[in-house]
Amino acid sequence: MSPRDLAPAHVREIAPYVPGKPVAETARELGLAEADILKLASNENPLGSSPRAIEALRGALGELAWYPDGSGHDLKLAIAARLPVDPANIVLGNGSNDVLELVARAFLTPGDSAVYSQHAFMVYPLVVKAIGARGIEVPARDYGHDLAALAAAVRPDTRLVFVANPNNPTGTFLPWEAIGEFVAGLPDHVLAVIDEAYGEYLPDARRSPTPGWLGRFPNLVITRTLSKAYGLAGLRVGFGLAHPEVAELMNRVRQPFNVNHLAMVAACAALGDEAFIAESRRVNASGLGQLEAGFARLGLDFIPSAGNFVSVRVGDAARVYDSLLREGVIVRPVAGYGMPEHLRVTVGTAPQNERFLAALARALGRG
Ligand SMILES: *Cc1c(COP(=O)(O)O)cnc(C)c1O
Repeated sequence: MSPRDLAPAHVREIAPYVPGKPVAETARELGLAEADILKLASNENPLGSSPRAIEALRGALGELAWYPDGSGHDLKLAIAARLPVDPANIVLGNGSNDVLELVARAFLTPGDSAVYSQHAFMVYPLVVKAIGARGIEVPARDYGHDLAALAAAVRPDTRLVFVANPNNPTGTFLPWEAIGEFVAGLPDHVLAVIDEAYGEYLPDARRSPTPGWLGRFPNLVITRTLSKAYGLAGLRVGFGLAHPEVAELMNRVRQPFNVNHLAMVAACAALGDEAFIAESRRVNASGLGQLEAGFARLGLDFIPSAGNFVSVRVGDAARVYDSLLREGVIVRPVAGYGMPEHLRVTVGTAPQNERFLAALARALGRG
């Protein structure tokens, strides 16, 4: 008997999550300095972290001998000060991936199912399958979520439906009115999990109204993160917003100290750093335009994106990925998302985007 046989079938069947290739590993393999590597693979903020967060972190370094505040009091107040929610609506997570897992742990049993879209964020099937529940993948429409098909896929044993808006890795966006109608139309036995990891990058006219819906929809869970626009991916902090009873159940299955002290200190400061978010939005919007123009010049199709990344169709994506990697440019293959001809690239600063586009042109034999 191999130790593998000791795990239940539903664990053995989980496809491991493949993260973006780390800079240090790439530098080692290529014999290059880390500073020469350009990583545009994990939708990290090319401007770094909120300076206010960094300053707050320096001030907290003397506080590390103590356990963090397991109730997350200060961070919940900081969130409630900015959104139309109360602390009782909030569940803090070690990244929003943690929140996604908490929803699954609190609401799924092996006899249940959860619904999500083709080309949706890989963490949804992961958390569902870790429970031993059934994942129902619904075909996408134009790479985006087909809300009618998602609703139609709901069964009596369905407890969760995951919708990312914008979605990763496609960058597709659906109007909030459509999302609201979708949530309103779900049966009572289903929670809608709306993943808003990239919400800060949306233009003002598309800003998410969902926290204001919590009074109306007891079956709504919203997830947000400090990993993307706030530039704190390495600290791991995100949060969920839900009806107080839903939040309370999720908190029951949460580890008592799931979010570390520095992460909470940094998040409190970052949430108030409107200047950093404004600059991140500006750099992203112009970088997205730069990438799209570059793709058009190369005659490449891309999926119009509302996030801080864009998926471009390059043909033999594995080969192009390798060519880019040899030049020290790391992007993200998305074959595992059912998109074998695409690569996903994170929007960088203007010089980073230029370097990537030049390397891409060479990889395609058009340099
Ligand atoms: C990056 C991302 C997250 C955030 O993950 P964290 O755990 O908060 O770092 C969540 N959902 C989607 C769709 C993402 O792309």
